[in-house]
Amino acid sequence: MRVLVVEDEPRLAEHLASALGDAGYVVDVAADGARGDFLAQTERYDVVVLDLGLPRIDGLSLLDRWRQAGLAMPVLVLTARGSWHEKVRGIDAGADDYLAKPFHIEEVIARVRALVRRAAGHASSELRCGPLTLDVARARVSAHGVPVALTAHEFRVLSYLMHHCGRVVGQAELTEHIYAQAFERDSNTVEVFIARLRRKLGAESIKTVRGLGYCIEPTR
Ligand code: CA
Repeated sequence: MRVLVVEDEPRLAEHLASALGDAGYVVDVAADGARGDFLAQTERYDVVVLDLGLPRIDGLSLLDRWRQAGLAMPVLVLTARGSWHEKVRGIDAGADDYLAKPFHIEEVIARVRALVRRAAGHASSELRCGPLTLDVARARVSAHGVPVALTAHEFRVLSYLMHHCGRVVGQAELTEHIYAQAFERDSNTVEVFIARLRRKLGAESIKTVRGLGYCIEPTR
């Protein structure tokens, strides 16, 4: 899962980036509106955390611009405390959720998790696809009811596939949502993680769709 944080206050941006990183997300940070706009329009994000007071282009204008360009990723807006008019304008502009500053970092993580899940069409924090269960809040996985221990990267791969249960996910897309930096990306390693996941979860757990990518089939 890939998150864009658009926040001009360096310490807060750093705090958000490290907490989201610890929670298993791949994080990009933009320190002003123009940079945020560039990244949002050129990369694919599962969720955006957007401050409203930003240099160069303000958050509301950004949100407006994205929605008009047809970008539908969930956006969590950060507003100044007590600024109810910002909140209203944010929701009007297409924000999916908002949080007033100052906030507890755990709350940001929980909201981000819920937005990603809802965008994927899941109402509960437990995703089920066939025999697999993934508890996104506790980062736990089980196959046929038996808990399975996964490494951080294996979990990211499985989590992305399960959030898109029933859809074929290409290798490039998967790679993009697992690694933060382009230099880390190597399509071979995705194959390695898929092979390890199959060993742990069962050979049939993840299907290869030749030439297209991977798919986890939904419960039938
Ligand atoms: Ca700001």
